[in-house]
Amino acid sequence: MQRFDNFYADGRWHPAQGDEITLYNPTTEEPSAAVRFATVNQVRLATAAAAAALPAWSARPMGERAAILAAAGEALVAQADELARTLSAEVGTPIAQSRRLHVQTAIHTLLQAPRWAQQQQPQEGPGRTLVEQIPIGVAACVTPWNYPLYLAATKIVPALLSGASVVLKPSELAPASIAALVGAFERARLPPGVLNVVFGGAATGEALIRDRQVEVISFTGSTAVGRQIAAIGGGLLKKVSLELGGKSPSVVLPDAALARAVSGTLQKAFQNAGQTCTASSRLLVPQAQFSEACELAAAGARALRSGDPLDPQTELGPLISAAQRSRAMQLIATAVQQGAHLLAGGAGAPRPARGYFVPPTVFATADPALEIVQTEAFAPVLVIMAYRGLDHAVELANATPFGLSAAVWSADEAQAMAVARRVRAGSVSINGAHTHPDAPFGGFGASGLGRERGPLALEEFRATRSLHRDSGQRPPSDGPARAG
Ligand code: NAD
Repeated sequence: MQRFDNFYADGRWHPAQGDEITLYNPTTEEPSAAVRFATVNQVRLATAAAAAALPAWSARPMGERAAILAAAGEALVAQADELARTLSAEVGTPIAQSRRLHVQTAIHTLLQAPRWAQQQQPQEGPGRTLVEQIPIGVAACVTPWNYPLYLAATKIVPALLSGASVVLKPSELAPASIAALVGAFERARLPPGVLNVVFGGAATGEALIRDRQVEVISFTGSTAVGRQIAAIGGGLLKKVSLELGGKSPSVVLPDAALARAVSGTLQKAFQNAGQTCTASSRLLVPQAQFSEACELAAAGARALRSGDPLDPQTELGPLISAAQRSRAMQLIATAVQQGAHLLAGGAGAPRPARGYFVPPTVFATADPALEIVQTEAFAPVLVIMAYRGLDHAVELANATPFGLSAAVWSADEAQAMAVARRVRAGSVSINGAHTHPDAPFGGFGASGLGRERGPLALEEFRATRSLHRDSGQRPPSDGPARAG
């Protein structure tokens, strides 16, 4: 059994003194790891280390900071296969998906840092004003378990590149790749205190975001916890960005190639067993193609191979924990009770005898108010609805509190783009296009605030400062400033 009983501060691992939890392998249900949480005092040691490291780190040229981030990426390249296996064992992600979605994405994010740095220049403002972007201060980064390595990298790279120092609190359910990430930063000679890590749950996370040394909070996780964090951060006037849940629509226009659109939607709905914030979990099809779409989706779901995530043939692994599985099965049971039509999967469908597996499940309904339409399942569950015309399609697409991502399918790209612009989502994929890892990403409404990924992500950790140099001339109007 692996042990994660330390926290990382000031460039060293120290024994943690808080509560301990046991983790279970999601495929075998056997105990796999023990995680000991940092105490509130130990969280304070981590934020103190980050605050102490901040002045020297933020004073270094951005190019040097970027080079260290890229060197950490290089260090991970050598471990990529081992990391993919570690994440498949820990999260349950099928190995081929682990390589691509967990590991390559994280490495890409680190390796891109020098390119992003080149795009950041101080701007000449009006007159002789110099407008600079400066780090706000110590950043608390709180991340979930579904893509533990990638989502940590998504926050650490822009934070450190901007000159901030970081205390990361990863999910207590997925510590293994984070320990490897710290090792990569050590090999890249990141100065002590610039990146600190505390393992723990809600109490540890809350102690971290409340800590007076922390000035920026970057959170990825559920909408419910995001609301709590926004309230705390708002009260303490800290800058908060939130990447939260989704219930993303896949809108198939009447001229689209239906089979391709359905299989593309299934792939996005069931990847990482549906434990993806951008999962295409609602399929919207024209009334005339509804029956065919239902048949295609049900057949596609039944054909998925569930099993050991380390077996290269496996397409669908287990959920990460018994708690996630029972939550998903409850949602499926409620959908049946509320009258959703079960087309594939469900409680009675075959699944491996051991492991936290949920059968790939497809529902159809005409009722947009059902819980299965409105609630993020975070499990391999798809719901299909028919629309009567384009306005109705857009109305259904926008009829949840979320606004994270969407897909639109059409033979006519211009028409797909026109519909995409009417869908309230931070990123929309046209005809199955892969989302570029450096394009801005984030949501509306219950999906959160702020944008991550690519050079724009630095803004979440920075503020603007204007340096007014004397030009010998009085500006056209300096009224409010002079009036005080
Ligand atoms: P969660 O909200 O339960 O936990 C996320 C993190 O917050 C964990 O590290 C957890 O320990 C911590 N936490 C929990 N309560 C806290 C509190 N009161 N104060 C501070 N920290 C606290 O989410 P989860 O179950 O780990 O992850 C699944 C959720 O994450 C889903 O809703 C999913 O959609 C969302 N997610 C969103 C994105 C995105 O980019 N939008 C990406 C991945 C996952």
